[in-house]
Parts: sequence; C-alpha cells; structure tokens
Amino acid sequence: MTWRATVLTLFPELFPGPLAASLSGEALKSGLWSLDTIALRDFGIGRHRTVDDTPAGGGAGMVLRADVLGAAIDAARQSAGDVPLIVLSPRGELLTQATVRELAAGPGALLLAGRFEGIDQRVIEGRNAREISIGDYVLAGGELAAMVLIDAVVRLLPGVVGATASLVEESFEGGLLEYPHYTRPRAWEGRQLPEVLLSGDHARIAAWRRAESERITRERRPDLWARRKGKPTRAPS
Ligand code: SAH
Repeated sequence: MTWRATVLTLFPELFPGPLAASLSGEALKSGLWSLDTIALRDFGIGRHRTVDDTPAGGGAGMVLRADVLGAAIDAARQSAGDVPLIVLSPRGELLTQATVRELAAGPGALLLAGRFEGIDQRVIEGRNAREISIGDYVLAGGELAAMVLIDAVVRLLPGVVGATASLVEESFEGGLLEYPHYTRPRAWEGRQLPEVLLSGDHARIAAWRRAESERITRERRPDLWARRKGKPTRAPS
C-alpha cells in the first residue's frame, strides 16, 4: 500500500527536495509512498492571486486567508482521500516518535505549511486540523517542518529501511536513547573499541548496550528517563 503525502504550500518547488535522496528517494521511486503538492497560489483571490492579508486587529506581518486555505484544503481532499489534516505550527503538539508511528500506520497525511505570521485560526477549527510542531523554535515556513515529518514517517514504512531490527533498537523506541555505535578500525587515534563488543558474547553485548542506553538517557534526558517504559519500581541509585 502506498502512504500518501499531500502538501499544501506557497512553494511547491521546494518538494521533494531532500526527500528525493537516499532511502526516502528510492522508496518514492518504487511507490512505497507518494508525494503531491498543491500550490496555495492557485486558490488565490483576484488577478494577483492574493493568498494573505493584514492581521485583523492590527500588528506586524501577514496572515494566510481562511477562504483561500479552505478552498485549497477542500480541493486537496478530492485527491488525498480520507487522511488526517495536519497544520505545521510552532504552537502544535511536539512531534514525537509515537506520533510518527501512528501516522505511518495510517493511509497518509495532508500537510498545510504556513508562511508569514501563520494562518487564519478559523481554518484550524473549521477543517478539524491537528497542529504539530517540530520543536520549540520558529521557522520561516512550514515546508521544512512538513519534510521533517514525512522523512520520519517514510523510514518506518515497510520495505523502506532494510532491517526492521535496526528500527526496533533506535532512540525513543522503548523510551530510551540509543547506545553508542562503533565500527572498524579497532583502534583509532589511540581510542580502542569497547572490549565487550569484541567478545562475541551476545548476551553480554546486549546487556552492555542496554546499560549504555540507560546511562545516556539518564544523563541527557531526565524527562525521558522519568517517563520510560518498563521502568523499575525502585529508582536506581
Ligand atoms: N507567528 C507564528 C510563527 C509563524 S512562522 C508564531 O509566533 O507562532 C511561519 C510558519 O512556519 C508557520 O505558520 C508554520 O507553518 C511554520 N513553522 C514555524 N515554526 C515551526 C515549528 N517549530 N514547527 C512547525 N512549523 C513551524
């Protein structure tokens, strides 16, 4: 089945951009997912195809118009089908691996990329959109945020990443950050590979990786550590 991404944007020429490279690009070519863009400009008003206007109540910048966005969303729905409408926004719920997994399990997504000061609030309510943020910082537009979301989803689609085991052991799966990776050479600038990784003892290696995952999560992300799955009843000292 093909996972369908449809992006509503003022800058369709930005797509597929980085999504055309490497694994996501191969998967796009082979039809594991599809990408359509809808140009908001096509739904603009009048001879100048105006898409924005000054903020009601005054203030700096421009706001994307509700009538323009509504028409674009309704047109996109014809081709995109019954997929969730996502508005990329710094005010949205933070994108997490759990959300990425949830979206990957569905048929696709209709993604609205804002520009300028953002979009008319009535569109979010009137079209029942889910607002998603990719982090606590402000981008100039939603296109890169849409690409980030699509990139994260596509690599979870069956057949995109070769070994599914590599997906299971990653950061955030099981609520922990990943253990450190090593490869050849055995010594580099005087730094040796951790001895355990050369032992051939798979149980010992698994235990070491688990311990490293836990140590790194505890040190770097106390918030994740507190919420992790399978958390022991007694906190480690
Ligand atoms: N005035 C808005 C910022 C607008 S930035 C505010 O203060 O909240 C312009 C557009 O970039 C937004 O409409 C949104 O689509 C996108 N954008 C900016 N930061 C983002 C983020 N952290 N996550 C997702 N989209 C973002």
